Amino acid sequence: MKNSGLTESQLFDILKEIKKKDTNYSRVLSAMCTHPHRIAVEAHMMFIESNMGDSGLFPGTNEMEHCVIDMLSDLMHGQGVHGHMTTGGTESNIQALRSMRNFSESSRPNVVVPESAHFSFDKIADVLRIEIRKASMDQEFKVDIESFESLIDENTVGLVGVAGSTEFGQIDPIEDISGLAVENSLPLHVDAAFGGFVIPFLKKDYSFDFSLDGVTSIALDPHKMGLGTIPAGVLLFRGEEYLSNLQTDTPYLTTQTQHSLTGTRSGGAVAATYAVMNYLGKDGYIEVVDYCMDLTEKLVEGSYRIGIEPLIEPVMNVVALRIPDADLVRKILREKYGWMVSITRDPRCLRLVMMPHLTIANLELFLQDLEKAVKDVDTGMDS
Ligand SMILES: *Cc1c(COP(=O)(O)O)cnc(C)c1O
Repeated sequence: MKNSGLTESQLFDILKEIKKKDTNYSRVLSAMCTHPHRIAVEAHMMFIESNMGDSGLFPGTNEMEHCVIDMLSDLMHGQGVHGHMTTGGTESNIQALRSMRNFSESSRPNVVVPESAHFSFDKIADVLRIEIRKASMDQEFKVDIESFESLIDENTVGLVGVAGSTEFGQIDPIEDISGLAVENSLPLHVDAAFGGFVIPFLKKDYSFDFSLDGVTSIALDPHKMGLGTIPAGVLLFRGEEYLSNLQTDTPYLTTQTQHSLTGTRSGGAVAATYAVMNYLGKDGYIEVVDYCMDLTEKLVEGSYRIGIEPLIEPVMNVVALRIPDADLVRKILREKYGWMVSITRDPRCLRLVMMPHLTIANLELFLQDLEKAVKDVDTGMDS
């Protein structure tokens, strides 16, 4: 840091230059985050100084957090649900598994997850010192329920299902996993970080939430398809008992205890989530999801036209395309044509997320460039 500061105009000239290096999302097909809704941004700014880590100072924001939990509890068919906002899916998953571990007596605890689970579970294994057992996938890239069941033993402290997998957008057979949870008296966490703000608004019905007896917690992220501001995740527990084993005394704050993992927490993100959910309502989210599913359909149709097939028929707005040399096609799309796309781990497919920031015109441009990139690879033009 220099001794004397810059002037405001000097500083913002620098910031404007730096901002040019960042994406404006228009050619991003790899991300699950997007531009926050303008209403969310405005509400976030209005509560920018609010700290949910010391919520007694901000009873207004605290009320909004309770409202968000209530609204989402309703959406997830829960009753008497307890929970809190987090920084996102990673923290929600950590907290859910921490609760499972604290509930059990096992000295060598393990949790069974699908192989398609988000990489946050690898972090959790390290942080919480629990074994994460990965069940294999079936033909449709849902977890194979026999493989899942075979991994449960006397040291299993909980189960995880994914509703909207990060790579394939697939929904695990949560109903079957819920059956296993009940049968074995184990808690079941549903990771709906992405799917939580998509699945309830799809035309087709899926059961994945508290309507299933075995489901004890759900993670869903307002900062993905909820159009909130970063950082905003939500963790819901079926009852208070699952949350109470996360309690810490907070002697020098305005509240006596805390359940969240983070201390200081953004009240701005709470306000943003509250605002955008109330502004859009279910009808607004249905419109957003309709638009993304329309893009998804157009992407799949366009891909078939150039001889490329999806790995599975898309369930939500995440598409994995079977392409030979997917890594190379990705590199060409990025370096020659300026598109950000990603790759699934196994099998290696091109992974595309159809977020609200993508326009139909840009999708058409992308499909033209995809065709060219595939030809470039075929003719060895990439070198
Ligand atoms: C994005 C995602 C996460 C991680 O969420 P962050 O907000 O990035 O921490 C976890 N699980 C699933 C299924 C996700 O899609």
